[in-house]
Amino acid sequence: MGKKYFHAPRRGFISEDASPTGARGSRGFLDIGAASRFTTHHSLLITELTTQFSFQVSTRCSQTKARVGVFYTPHGAVETPRFMPVGTLANVKTVTPTQLQETGAQMVLANTYHLHLQPGERIVEKAGGLHQFMRWNQPILTDSGGFQVFSLSEMRQITDDGVIFRSPHDGQMINLTPERSIQIQNALGADVIMAFDECPPYPASREEVEAATQRTYRWLERCISAHQRPDQALFGIVQGGVYPDLRAAAAEALAGLDLPGYAIGGVSVGEPPELIAKIVQATTPMLPVDKPRYLMGVGTYKEMAQAIASGMDLFDCVIPTRLARHGAALVKGERWNLKNSQYREDFQPLDETCPCYTCQNFTRAYISHLVRSQEILAYTLLTIHNITELVRFTQKIREAIISDRFTTEFAQWLS
Ligand SMILES: [Zn+2]
Repeated sequence: MGKKYFHAPRRGFISEDASPTGARGSRGFLDIGAASRFTTHHSLLITELTTQFSFQVSTRCSQTKARVGVFYTPHGAVETPRFMPVGTLANVKTVTPTQLQETGAQMVLANTYHLHLQPGERIVEKAGGLHQFMRWNQPILTDSGGFQVFSLSEMRQITDDGVIFRSPHDGQMINLTPERSIQIQNALGADVIMAFDECPPYPASREEVEAATQRTYRWLERCISAHQRPDQALFGIVQGGVYPDLRAAAAEALAGLDLPGYAIGGVSVGEPPELIAKIVQATTPMLPVDKPRYLMGVGTYKEMAQAIASGMDLFDCVIPTRLARHGAALVKGERWNLKNSQYREDFQPLDETCPCYTCQNFTRAYISHLVRSQEILAYTLLTIHNITELVRFTQKIREAIISDRFTTEFAQWLS
């Protein structure tokens, strides 16, 4: 793991009380002896913490570039390939952390932009960080807020410095820069934090995408300098729109920075699905083989299977949770609207092969009744099932790669 972006924390991370000098209440903090003790203590601690992140590939598919690995973080391991549910506001909507854990989810997402607006990172930091605040003691990843600033906020002004936008909460102008995004993410305390990037829309001209890609790289360098916590892994994001040469150049430049992980961003922003597969296929081989690779915002069966075949490891998507809140279930690759009359007297579970709490206990008829009555339990039960479904999909691919049956068992998703 590269060391150059793991600077000694300047504030916050190691309190004075925890340092050997501070604990003794010494006023001579700047005397040379104390300073060198502090430095020794620091570098030992940093070495200890950075070794908590590692990625080990155990099996490679003989037919494709798919791989099976384990990504180790300070809050536990993530077996890859793996789907990660989205918990934008430090919760996966309608389910408790215990219910979430039972779906097989290992790492969850939270969002920097949303948490900065509400409740604000200071409150999360005061609570002891995101894990403590939301009571999820497994790995967490925070998105940088870049995507949300570009997709959600109005009245934004983009400069090389960062993005100025109006808060949808109180109308105040907010200046989000790479440094600020990293400061917020350092305060939130997720295991994996993301670089602040410019995500161009689709369609966008080549000139626009090229400028955004170059700016994303300059911003990444600033993110690396601003990053303060060695117990958090900063992932870089490859942009480049639908232009393979821009993607390739960005991937090559990022690979040179020896980051602990890499993401492909700016896909699934409205471009046709076949373009997504092409971009991922062309970009993934440019990323270092020994680091986890995360495809942002992608979570359909076909897109995940194809991306895994290209060598991607991690995925996130709002589809399973959003569909659940619209009364829809994901079953064996299909979307079912539980409001449809065919389910009213259907007393089977959603999926008889699914081990989730919902399928083990409830019928389609009951869930259909809850959805029609707009009972909140409907959304909880569907969320539990839908997340389990997508996590299981990636788990089954993992098992298929291990037994070298990936291309045969998942052929329907790979063509
Ligand atoms: Zn189920």
